[in-house]
Order: sequence, then C-alpha cells, then structure tokens
Amino acid sequence: MDPITAVLQDVLDEIRGDDRGAPASYIPELATVDPDRLAFGVVGPRGRIRSVGDDEVEFTIQSMSKPFVLAHVLAERGLTAVLERVGAEPSGEPFNAISLEEGSGRPANPMVNAGAIATTGMVSGADVDERTESILTTLSAFAGRRLRVDEDVYRSESTTGDRNRALAHLMRSYGIIEAPVELAVETYFRQCSILVTVRDLAVMASTLAFGGVNPVTDERVVDERVARDVLSIMSSCGMYDFSGEWLLRVGLPAKSGVSGGVLAVAPSQFGVAAFSPRLDEHGNSVRGQAIVEALSDRMGMHLLEPH
Ligand code: GLN
Repeated sequence: MDPITAVLQDVLDEIRGDDRGAPASYIPELATVDPDRLAFGVVGPRGRIRSVGDDEVEFTIQSMSKPFVLAHVLAERGLTAVLERVGAEPSGEPFNAISLEEGSGRPANPMVNAGAIATTGMVSGADVDERTESILTTLSAFAGRRLRVDEDVYRSESTTGDRNRALAHLMRSYGIIEAPVELAVETYFRQCSILVTVRDLAVMASTLAFGGVNPVTDERVVDERVARDVLSIMSSCGMYDFSGEWLLRVGLPAKSGVSGGVLAVAPSQFGVAAFSPRLDEHGNSVRGQAIVEALSDRMGMHLLEPH
C-alpha cells in the first residue's frame, strides 16, 4: 500500500466506530441506505485516485451538486448576472430555510436549497430534459465519466418536495426565478438525484482544486476564475449553519449533501471526498466530516496555516 493510501486507511479505521447520527429520512428513498457504508478518497495533482472502504458504492450527489451547477451558470452567465439573483453570504440558517433577502427576494447563497434552486433556474434549456442533460454534461466532465440520474430517488424527492416548491414559488414572485416553477424545481430534483461514488466526488473536488482542469482526464472543464469563485463561496457557505466552525476547524472549502457525502478542496494539492450516511443536526455527515478533519490535521492542509 502506498503511503497516502495507508494514511486514508488509518483515518478510516480511526473513525469507523462512530455511529452517531442518522441517515436523512425526509426524502423517503434516502432512508433505505445501509447506514454503515463508509468510504474515503483523494485525488492528487497527477490525477491518481486513491480510495478506501465502500469506494464503488453509488449514492446520490444531493447538495454536493450545488457548487458544480453554480460553476455551470457562472461559466454560462458570468458572476455579475448570477449575483443579481443569488447572494454570497453565509445564511447561518439550516439548508432548507424559508428565508430570502428583504426587498430583493434573493436567497442568501447558492449552497442552500433556495439559492441552489435559483441557480438551477438559470441553466438554459427548453425543458427539464434539456436542462438536466446540460447539467449532467458539466458534472460528468468534472467527474471524468458519464453520470446518470437515480430515478427512484428523483421520484421520491419530487413527491415529497413541497418545501422546495414553496421556496421556488416565493422566488418566482420576486422575479428571481423566471422559468416556470416546475421547470426549475424538477431540474433541481433531478440534479440532486445524480449517482456518484466517493471516487467520482474526489475527482470532481480535484477539478476545482486544480483551477478547473480535471487532473484525471486533463480536460479544462471551467476556467480558473470560475473555479476560484466557486471555492470562495464553498469556503463561507458550504457546510450550511456549520460553515464558520468548519472553516475554523478544518480550513478547507467543502460541500456536504444529505446522502452523507462530503467533498473538500485543498487548492493545488488534493480533491477529497468521504461518504457515510449518518447525519448530524445540520444535515452534515458525522463520519464524513471527521474523516476530512482528521486528514486536514494529519497532512497540515488548513489553508490559513503558514505553508
Ligand atoms: N435534495 C435535497 C433537498 O433539496 C438536497 C439537500 C441537501 O443535500 N442538503 O432537500
């Protein structure tokens, strides 16, 4: 075993016994997951993927789609146009909060549900299928392989997604969403239901770490400025109402999702991803966060420490 894989295995074994938290159940299909699943992967500058645990198991990307769809619309529309519809401030509120900026109706940032629905609403395309296809193309380029939607999770989200629909209706009343609500929301549900493994997420994170170039395929997916903008927003907003403490403890831009994945980016060094379905009260994976924190500690990855 090479030294980096040995560190991953060591970290995995160290946190394996922590069984706090519970898988998300508000999307019924997510509650059917095996809660003991555990996986960890990193991708370095030469595109070598190292992973341990249940690294071939697929799960839905959920909110970890948000930074990549943000990258997609930043590339398509530019930062100024995006900021007209969604802010860049940590909300200090849960990911599904019904909360918009006074007056403008802008959601706080693109990493919470309201902001992500607004971002998805900006993706161009005639219908849900075209828009989903364009998101799938971008996310697949970030991952270096063709991704697909889990139809069961999608149906489960769509049937139980009234809170997200309510957010979209509110935003449409302010003109933040121009598309018909169903178009924005169903595309958002499909984007959240894209299947990935921890290896895919580590490659996706590494594409952000290396300025928008996927180090496995060498493809430039977005320009350097877009990657930087996404990482900036992930740094302040990626872990919902735990974003401040996360930056303090771990010091890496990161994004979590209610399926139990966490991805983190050490710019110019590593893309990192972990998967464990049990969540804490913020909706962040308990062991996923512990894994990334332990790696950041061991490898001295905190961005604000002198390197
Ligand atoms: N699809 C989920 C939702 O909209 C995503 C939330 C999350 O991962 N935090 O509620």
